[in-house]
Formats: sequence, C-alpha cells, structure tokens
Amino acid sequence: MSIPNTFEIDIVKANSSHIDVVDFDNLTFGTVFTDHMLICDFKDGAWEKPIIKPYEPFLIDPSSKVFHYGQAIFEGMKAYKDEHDDVWMFRPDENLKRFNKSATRMAMPEVPEPIFIEGLKTLLDIERNWVKKGLGNTLYIRPFMIATGHGVIAQPSTEYRFMIILSPAKSYYSGDVKVIIAEHYSRAANGGIGAAKAAGNYSAQFYPTKLANEKGFQQIIWTDDATHTKLEEAGTMNVFFRINDTLFTAPTSERILDGITRKSIIDLAKRENINIEVRSVLVQELVDAANNGTLKEIFGAGTAAVISPISCFSYQNNEYQLPKLEDSFARQLKEKLTQIQYKLAEDTFGWTVKV
Ligand SMILES: *Cc1c(COP(=O)(O)O)cnc(C)c1O
Repeated sequence: MSIPNTFEIDIVKANSSHIDVVDFDNLTFGTVFTDHMLICDFKDGAWEKPIIKPYEPFLIDPSSKVFHYGQAIFEGMKAYKDEHDDVWMFRPDENLKRFNKSATRMAMPEVPEPIFIEGLKTLLDIERNWVKKGLGNTLYIRPFMIATGHGVIAQPSTEYRFMIILSPAKSYYSGDVKVIIAEHYSRAANGGIGAAKAAGNYSAQFYPTKLANEKGFQQIIWTDDATHTKLEEAGTMNVFFRINDTLFTAPTSERILDGITRKSIIDLAKRENINIEVRSVLVQELVDAANNGTLKEIFGAGTAAVISPISCFSYQNNEYQLPKLEDSFARQLKEKLTQIQYKLAEDTFGWTVKV
C-alpha cells in the first residue's frame, strides 16, 4: 500500500452554508449534517488524493460489495469548542488505531494516518462554526469505509471509499434506562467480528433490541455467547458495575469492543482513587448484589452518550431496581471526563488535540 509522504487534499467549498436554518437547540442525534464531507477512494492498490466537497448524495453501483456482504466499518468520535473558541478532538489517534484494526478484520485496506487525522483536522477547520460553545454541545464525527468494488461474487472488494461526515449534536440525557440481560441472543462470539466496529454488528442487534423494546426495556446487557453467565456490554456501549464502592468492568476481548470512553474512565477512576477492577462480573454476582443491597450502580459508557446510568435490570423475568444515589460514580466520572473534553479542567493525560 502506498502512503503519500506529503499530505495533499483537494478542497471544493460549498457556495453557501445551511447553518442558519439549523435549530441547534432541537437536534435529533445524527440527523443534521454540516456543509462539507471528506471522500478518499482506494483503487488499484492505493489511496487516491482525498477531497473535501459539499455534502451531497453520490452514485454507487448496485452490485457494490457493501450492499451484498456488508463490508463496512465506522468510527464515532466528537469535537468540542472551548471558551476561547478553539476546537478540540479527543484521543483521535485511538480512533484511527481502532479503525485500522476493524479494517484488517474485515479484509479492508488500512487508512493512512494523514488521510484520517490531517483530513479530519482540515474538515473540522472548515466546519468550525458548526461546533457550538457550551457544555453539552458537540460535533459528532463519523468516519466510515465501504466496499465500492463491483460484482456480487463473495470476495473482498478491490475498491473502497473512506469518508468523514459531521453532525452537530447535543449531549443527550437518555433518561432512566431499563435493560434486559441477554439469555439467548448474542452480540459477539469468540473468533467473530465483535471487537471490530463493523456495520453488521449493529444490524445484528436491532432485532433482539426490538424484542426488548416491546417488553418496555431500552437496551440489552449482552452476555458471553457460550454460557450467557458473564456480563459483557450494554447495547452499543461498554458497561460498568458498582458493587459496594468498587467499580467493575470486563476486560476487552474478541467479544468486547475496546471503547475509548471505557479506557478513559478506567484511568480517571484510578486518578480519583476510585477502586476499579477490570474483571468479568457474573450475572449471578449481579443478582446476588442486587438482592443483598450491595449493588449501587450500573452504567454504559460510549462516545455518543458518554455515560448512561441504568435504573433497572431484568433477568429471568425478575426485575431488579437500582438505588438513586447522591454520590454516584457515574455522575462524578462523567463530569471529570467532560471537563477535560471541554478544556474546563487540566488535561493531565494529554488526551485532547487541538484542531
Ligand atoms: C463504539 C462502541 C463502544 C464505545 O466505544 P467508544 O470508543 O467509547 O465510543 C462500545 N461498544 C461497542 C459495541 C461499540 O461499537
């Protein structure tokens, strides 16, 4: 694979911006996009010159492999604006690493660092008006790659398209999230693609999540596929459990995605002298802790919602309520993390990168 030594990019600016017609106080997550997008095509074994151009639909052949075999991966990240109108990214190198790990697992070419990082910085620089100041305002960043090669033969494509699109978002409070612990369906299996941010992992969750929704639960806590005894992830987020004053989260594996929010929370908890143990928690342990009153919190962690507290879980048709806490780790850790992201607290970890 050839990697360009000097980064070059074509820029075609939109004639006008539609930013004035966007109601930034009433955004539905992931539905409004900025004026421009980045495109970079892979052909004949090499990445072409990336282009930033007006956001618009594009033509794609019906036999493109993305439609038939789901050869598609993505990332989710955010940009923030500080009090001085500077725009910041959060650990973008981690997203790049994970993107290329996903690419390898899906037999897709790696995206060179300059195309991903410099491309993103250039795009964010053009769209900096779309990043609004104030806690809770973010610009959600969606890099993705699809197989654009023609032909329905079941083989990896030889052509790909890498893109970045941007969507302004308000951090949402998801309300009380009620979850069901999975007893039959699985999100991931050993040897599978669960550790990759592959598009198909998400569509595979839609049906079991729909069944949970019909029973009045918003999300599923996924368990290991072989025994359904170990707690692994919550919906599309990593999951943390607080029993007494110790926080637990499972180690990453082939079944558990290596979330950047997850690892940032582990580092923050250590710094804040919160007892944290990275080990699998058994469903039975959770039920026992709920029954004897030592289960204090369950929360999901991921870029979109940052931290999402869970109010109740269901297992074998029994419902277990979680207490309402004054001193919740979820609230404390979310506050510390967002303060770093918005440059309201010193970034002692070196996680933030200026655009
Ligand atoms: C993206 C994702 C996460 C969260 O990762 P972050 O880097 O924290 O956004 C967790 N679990 C799954 C399955 C995911 O796809």
